[in-house]
Amino acid sequence: MKKRALISVSDKTDLDFFAKELYALGYEIISSSGTAKYIKSMGIPVLEVSEITGFPEILDGRVKTLHPKIHGGILAIRDNEKHIKQLEENDITPIDIVAINLYPFEATLKKGADLDELIENIDIGGPALVRASAKNYKFVAIIVDPKDYKIVIEELKNNSEISIQTKKKLALKAFRHTAIYDSIISNVLNEKFEINEKFPEELTIPVRKKQTLRYGENPHQEAALYISPIEDRFSIAGAEILQGKEMSYNNYLDVESAVSLIKEFEEIAAVIVKHNNPCGVAIADNIVDAYKIAFSRDPKSAFGGIVALNRKVDLELSKALTETFLEVVIAPDYTEEALEILKSKKNLRVVKINNFFEEDKGLDYRRISGGLLLQDKDKQLYKELQIVTERKPTEKELEDLIFAFKVVKHVKSNSVVIAKDKKTLGIGAGQTSRVDSLETAIKKAQEFGFDLEGSVLASEAFFPFRDSIDYAAKYGIKAVIQPGGSIRDKEVIQACNEHNIAMIFTNMRHFKH
Ligand code: 5GP
Repeated sequence: MKKRALISVSDKTDLDFFAKELYALGYEIISSSGTAKYIKSMGIPVLEVSEITGFPEILDGRVKTLHPKIHGGILAIRDNEKHIKQLEENDITPIDIVAINLYPFEATLKKGADLDELIENIDIGGPALVRASAKNYKFVAIIVDPKDYKIVIEELKNNSEISIQTKKKLALKAFRHTAIYDSIISNVLNEKFEINEKFPEELTIPVRKKQTLRYGENPHQEAALYISPIEDRFSIAGAEILQGKEMSYNNYLDVESAVSLIKEFEEIAAVIVKHNNPCGVAIADNIVDAYKIAFSRDPKSAFGGIVALNRKVDLELSKALTETFLEVVIAPDYTEEALEILKSKKNLRVVKINNFFEEDKGLDYRRISGGLLLQDKDKQLYKELQIVTERKPTEKELEDLIFAFKVVKHVKSNSVVIAKDKKTLGIGAGQTSRVDSLETAIKKAQEFGFDLEGSVLASEAFFPFRDSIDYAAKYGIKAVIQPGGSIRDKEVIQACNEHNIAMIFTNMRHFKH
């Protein structure tokens, strides 16, 4: 008996090669109408599914291959006598190879189709064929990716059969293919139906491998980058890498940090990040100054840093950027001249984020062993600006306080930021007690020669004791911003009043773990 191959594909890539080779290998090819027409046009004989089932394709193709003569031919266990007998009784021919790719739901989405067109592009019979074939992987080879035609043909030519190992691999790929397909559909419909369920009972996150990374956080950890096929607006994973060494796992994390911080500012700003924490942030009248000032905040840490800028990089800025060793530069755009200059730093990764100023939609996901934690992104800054001290902050202090609070929101807890004139003077990150973070911030400021007189202090969470305020006062810090909410708030306010420090409660905490 002739071996049978069922081909039903929307994407006709390399179909001519595959059909020709299968035919030459003695396979009988059966196909749904569109695929059959295509194969016939190449002069290769093909049987239409409807000729086998005796049933026409109906409902504009919604029902094509959903028939026992097809599914029986795929699902029968070939060494099960009962199954074989039933095939014979019902005049069903076994099918050995199935090549399917599904209706192009994703491509239809990308071209901006309306809901009706999207719905018509949900494949029904295709996934059934894919799953049936993958379930019966021992006897059926299921090919969902035209890239795999070659392997299958080669094995057939060399060994006249497809190895069980290959069939297993193909089956895995097939189940992933239908899973991501349905995952994309459910996520897209969640939006299109305007249901926008945030924390559904079951979660599917469609992502596809973009690239294997050289390694993970450390060289002994393997790693890869996955990208969402449905979030193509503002995206870090989809950022354009215009030049430089390959982006590393840590680079991506730092870029995410740097960009989420710089998105706080509409003013011209520059941010420098090291190991997921900012080490210098500045607002200035022009982007070159913003960068230079941000760098000068902590040049020691900024060495090998990740720089994010919220304006186009021009010639002058590109020259400044090449004066030192940086790992990554991120901006909404670059002039041609700037790119030329940046080329002189061969390893420097030059990253362009498309839709830079667009809102970063979606949730925050973090993996823990055996599960995921989901939360809203921390998008707001404060609930209120409540002055709690006898002295009110001056207008300038208020501007600096808000600037510092925006920065401290993006520093790992416990965090404090000391700032003046919309420039950071010292950042204390990731200490296990708040006063230690303050000590770090002050030490940093002193190390680089900054006078703290008249500066402001921001804390991402409340001060549990008055010690930090007493300490801050010694160095001339004049105003403080913090969420408030400690049982010792009174003591902390009292300390501010004693030192003539102005303090604001925001009533919004920004822990970052
Ligand atoms: P063709 O171009 O050959 O007419 O159709 C190929 C497409 O139809 C493939 O993407 C395949 O997954 C899909 N397909 C196969 N059988 C069925 C079916 O019974 N119902 C639907 N809706 N799609 C099918």
